[in-house]
Amino acid sequence: MGMATKKESQLGIPNTIQDAATHATHDAVHMIENKKMGMIKKAINFIKALKRHAEDGFKDVSLEEYKERLTICNKCPFQKNGECLECGCILAKKAWWESEDCPIGKWPKQ
Ligand code: SF4
Repeated sequence: MGMATKKESQLGIPNTIQDAATHATHDAVHMIENKKMGMIKKAINFIKALKRHAEDGFKDVSLEEYKERLTICNKCPFQKNGECLECGCILAKKAWWESEDCPIGKWPKQ
């Protein structure tokens, strides 16, 4: 690892190729750690949702309400590839569960 000069540490600009490589490596490690944390957080949220569903006696909403929920999700900017980016849950599953709600309150209250 190259020694950071005062100028580099103040401005965050690498002075050598080695410094640039070190910065890039640190950035890459940081991104991987963030991604891993994101995945762990999503998995924990999903497990919590599943626990609530179990505690609720595995009650599902009606097919009508399920479709209504998914229609809202499909138009939501937080929906990506069938997953809610707010809570990390798989929408095709979570939308069935009566115990669950949209984390930002978009689903209709029955
Ligand atoms: S659950 Fe709510 S926040 Fe998540 S995708 Fe659906 S509408 Fe959007």
